[in-house]
Amino acid sequence: MTNHPTDHVPHGYGVSAETLAPTSQDLLVLSRQLGRQVRDVVEIPARCVCGNPLVAATAPRLSNGTPFPTVFYLAHPVITQAASRLEAAGLMYRMTDRIAEEPETARAYEAAHRNYLAERERIGAATGIGEVPEIEGISAGGMPTRVKCLHAVLGHTLSVGPGVNPFGDETLAAIEQWWTPEQCACDPAWRDAED
Ligand SMILES: [Zn+2]
Repeated sequence: MTNHPTDHVPHGYGVSAETLAPTSQDLLVLSRQLGRQVRDVVEIPARCVCGNPLVAATAPRLSNGTPFPTVFYLAHPVITQAASRLEAAGLMYRMTDRIAEEPETARAYEAAHRNYLAERERIGAATGIGEVPEIEGISAGGMPTRVKCLHAVLGHTLSVGPGVNPFGDETLAAIEQWWTPEQCACDPAWRDAED
């Protein structure tokens, strides 16, 4: 596999250039985290301190031809459940209000949107998929005008590191009672050998 140009330095949580490519165990763990067979996973852009995947980077066009805008898919169930709790409490509505009220936050979120598109373009190029015109300019999670999905902005932050997506960074801080990057909350059964 020559998918990954050596000049790409990943900044996601818990990864290096050496651990960006998915292993067969990563795919097994992801399938168990999500409760379904994963497909078209091209990178593991964020990992737990134990090494398990946190996020699956999925090709911008699936092998069945479907365009897939959500390149950074949050997979770890402890984290997705924590984000769902914050969504149930309406955190994304308060964040969306702040885009109109805080010009600096709005600018940072716009830059996060562009970063998301650039990362997807990089992955599209690295995998030989190239451009996907159906989803051009469309990122994820409501970016850049709304915060619709905390899973999407948090998946982005975990995949590119802090300081890129302001609402992903805030979501990560807000879930600290359930999950932090420093501590493993994985289920050991995810790594058990296949029956
Ligand atoms: Zn872990």
